[in-house]
Amino acid sequence: MSRPDRAEVVVIGGGVIGLSIAAHLAEAGIETVVLERDDLASGASKATADVLRAYFSGDPVSSAMAVRSLSAYQSFPRWPGAELPLRQVGYLVLFTEREQVNRFEAELPAQRAVGVDVSLIGPEEARRLNPLVEEPSLLAAAWSPQAFVSDTAAIVEAYAEGAARAGASLRTGCPVTAVDPATGRIETADGTLTAEAIVCAAGAWSGWIASAAGLDLPLTGPAVQELLTTGPLPEIPDMPVTLHAASGLLIRRRDDRILIGMGNPGTDRDAWFAKARTQLATTYPGLDLSGLETAVRGPRDASPDRSAFIGRLPGPPAFLYATGFSGHGLCNAPAAGELVRDLYLGNDPSDVFGFDPAELSATARRRSR
Ligand SMILES: Cc1cc2nc3c(=O)[nH]c(=O)nc-3n(C[C@H](O)[C@H](O)[C@H](O)COP(=O)(O)OP(=O)(O)OC[C@H]3O[C@@H](n4cnc5c(N)ncnc54)[C@H](O)[C@@H]3O)c2cc1C
Repeated sequence: MSRPDRAEVVVIGGGVIGLSIAAHLAEAGIETVVLERDDLASGASKATADVLRAYFSGDPVSSAMAVRSLSAYQSFPRWPGAELPLRQVGYLVLFTEREQVNRFEAELPAQRAVGVDVSLIGPEEARRLNPLVEEPSLLAAAWSPQAFVSDTAAIVEAYAEGAARAGASLRTGCPVTAVDPATGRIETADGTLTAEAIVCAAGAWSGWIASAAGLDLPLTGPAVQELLTTGPLPEIPDMPVTLHAASGLLIRRRDDRILIGMGNPGTDRDAWFAKARTQLATTYPGLDLSGLETAVRGPRDASPDRSAFIGRLPGPPAFLYATGFSGHGLCNAPAAGELVRDLYLGNDPSDVFGFDPAELSATARRRSR
């Protein structure tokens, strides 16, 4: 049987964002096709630290998206219909500079206004929450209990199954080679499709697709992001996901090891590795680093201000985009799916989200730069 060559909406990219969008659209009765060039979740969504948190320092809009997403993850058994592992561990941010504390206090009302549970705690309390912390310059910390460790593969599978159950067609091994947003034509290695709306959710590879629609997305990818891991350790205390704010060093417990992230290796991976090792030895001197090695590498889909780009260009055909999640796509995926569905349907989700979705559009952000 030949595949239909028309669809109401075509979503380009089958990562966690594209699949959340497809599940939300299909559930709303919209005929949806996902085109993924490889396997589902073969890009950034294959290589995460499985962390879901609500507090995004300096970025209350991402926090608002994450708060809404956490509540969606907690309702996963109801929809899309899967029991997710969700282990609450909390999120601790270590401050070593007075200016960090001042910034935290200045933006606290905005964070709380969007539902983030976060407060300032002293060094002793921080060390009690994470007994590995021995940072000599520790002044204070931000503590948010709203952080969980989950399973990205289970999230992706739940959205893929939810989308398929609601009638979406998920085509893998189907690279998009050209798009013409003016006519809604999409060329793939497998033939041509025409859609009433195109959604670009191609992660770090979204640039050329957006350009074809006349949209300049200043994505700084694809660059490689790497997580490190210690070797197996005999005793690890329970601990929150812990960020050292000044260096970006992030650690969390994964079974009998510690998973570690610190920005991007950039062009000099050896220098980055040495820097991460030095920072680990300063902040966590008791940690055995003898087995330190690569845990995972994945493409980074960063925007210049670390907030995702989500928006809609006028149509028909409509062109929508959700990309540039900058290391927190998993935290934002349910809300991104909901938002793109509402933008497609012409609904105003401002009341539900607590912010104007236009704040995430590339056009509005370019104006405000
Ligand atoms: C090492 C690492 C750790 C991370 N840890 C976390 C974490 O703990 N918590 C968190 O919230 N976030 C984390 N992130 C970020 C998160 O993984 C991403 O933000 C998220 O996966 C982005 O999802 P996406 O669907 O936008 O992109 P992707 O998962 O990259 O999906 C894009 C898809 O588009 C497909 N595609 C591209 N071009 C085409 C084309 N021409 N035709 C068809 N298909 C195409 C790709 O094959 C890919 O599957 C981490 C990222 C990395 C790299």
